[in-house]
Amino acid sequence: MRPVNHVDTGVALTSHKDAKPNLIHSMGEFCAYCERATEAINLDVEHIKPQKAHSRLALTWGNFLLACTSCNTYKRHYQAANRQAGILRNQAWPHLDNTFSAYCYDQNGLITVSAGLTSLQHEQMAQRTLEMAGLDRTPSVAANYKELGLVYDIVSRRKKAWEKAQIALAAYQQNPTDIQCQSILGQAEETGFFSIWMSVFSAHASVKCELVRIFKASPNCFDHVGNPLNPRKAQRI
Ligand SMILES: [Zn+2]
Repeated sequence: MRPVNHVDTGVALTSHKDAKPNLIHSMGEFCAYCERATEAINLDVEHIKPQKAHSRLALTWGNFLLACTSCNTYKRHYQAANRQAGILRNQAWPHLDNTFSAYCYDQNGLITVSAGLTSLQHEQMAQRTLEMAGLDRTPSVAANYKELGLVYDIVSRRKKAWEKAQIALAAYQQNPTDIQCQSILGQAEETGFFSIWMSVFSAHASVKCELVRIFKASPNCFDHVGNPLNPRKAQRI
């Protein structure tokens, strides 16, 4: 999961939707949870702590991320059905943690919590976030939510993104030029799924550094060769 920079312009808002341009400027046109690329019109300003239960945070910059309609809707239903105490403290968050280190992606479109996390607590935090956003949803899980009209195609989307990145990798290995790199970055930006491109290009530092840049991933979560740094980047509020 792509780590992003926290956004707080200090500007008082009359609607949470007014935060969208600043959030897009900082985080790009990508879902903070599933990482898909999507047009601005299909991105929601998402309340980390649900505004229904935390009305005083409805217009608070620190309570916003950008999410696709699918993730936002799933999360809203999940949070309504599952009481979540202390979610900032007890879960991994892309604006608070180096969430790139927290998960592994594979060629089948699956996402799992990384085995290399420093403590069981961090593993549990990452797992809770996975469940909250429905990122590990499978067709059988999707069936439970079918009546809500939600689409659960994220596994197949990740699988396709992996295949596309593999083809790009083969082209780059044959022709590792700047022009080829630019072509790959264009494909990656259009497709989304930062973590998949970073995983497939794990042996190519210069491409990884460019991926961090074009995906607007938090630069302080990566070193000069594009490897992830300390999994936690901020204190909880
Ligand atoms: Zn999403």
